Amino acid sequence: QETTFRVTARVISDQRVILLCFLDVTDVEQAGQMRRDFVANVSHELRTPLTALMGFIETLRGPARGDAEARDRFLDIMEGEAGRMNRLVGDLLSLSRVEGDERVRPRDQVNLTALLASVLRTLKPLAADAGVVFEEDFGAGDVMLTGDADQLMQVFTNLIENAIKYGASGGRVTVRLDRSERDPALRAPGVRVHVIDYGAGIDTIHLPRLTERFYRADSHRSRALGGTGLGLAIVKHIINRHRGHLKIDSELGHGAQFTVVLPLQIAAVGSESQS
Ligand code: ADP
Repeated sequence: QETTFRVTARVISDQRVILLCFLDVTDVEQAGQMRRDFVANVSHELRTPLTALMGFIETLRGPARGDAEARDRFLDIMEGEAGRMNRLVGDLLSLSRVEGDERVRPRDQVNLTALLASVLRTLKPLAADAGVVFEEDFGAGDVMLTGDADQLMQVFTNLIENAIKYGASGGRVTVRLDRSERDPALRAPGVRVHVIDYGAGIDTIHLPRLTERFYRADSHRSRALGGTGLGLAIVKHIINRHRGHLKIDSELGHGAQFTVVLPLQIAAVGSESQS
């Protein structure tokens, strides 16, 4: 990895000494580059459906004018493209909200078991359409933790939706909850939620970058399934806010397992501890 220095030179008053100052600006440069990449990505992702919409409008005004069958077909496609833009804008807003919240400690008491059951209930029709059945293994008793209920709902919705979308060929999705008095990754009482599918899996070379904004292991498939490429980035920020971890285990052809590790109590950090 390259390091970038900003160098300033100053001649000291007697003209015989030059003071050189090296300032490491690698982080600043990287942040700037990431911001530029993000804007380029967003523009590209928005421009694709917009270009399609403009093309269809032109066709409806010209060659397809008066052709009722073509008009209905094109309107369906245009609705799909508008829906894609709508999802993208929704995910961008979610991402910016969760990035902004990251330093604020969540404080609700959340019943994680009930929350997972509710997410599964909501997603059941989607799973049924894809030919997927859920296997639930929540153990005994309710697990309570400190967190942000809406955001945790979003984490598990995104992960289970992905398991249905990308793992449909496996025919089932397992959601397992394990509570432990001392989680090895947290060194504190914690809970692990595993979302497991038995579908096509992910080539291991993609795993380290999967939570980056707009990173897709299979771009064609993601777009065909209506993905925005932002779901796992949102998941990662919410889990960071909860001082947890996300583990991804997968191999091509062997399904995928996403494990969310969450502390039962979120330790106070820095100045927040007084608030
Ligand atoms: P998308 O909107 O494209 O689904 P995500 O951020 O949710 O974006 O996921 C990023 C990429 O990770 C997806 O495009 C897909 O290639 C891959 N992926 C996520 N979950 C799974 C899964 N359960 N099985 C296989 N690939 C997955």
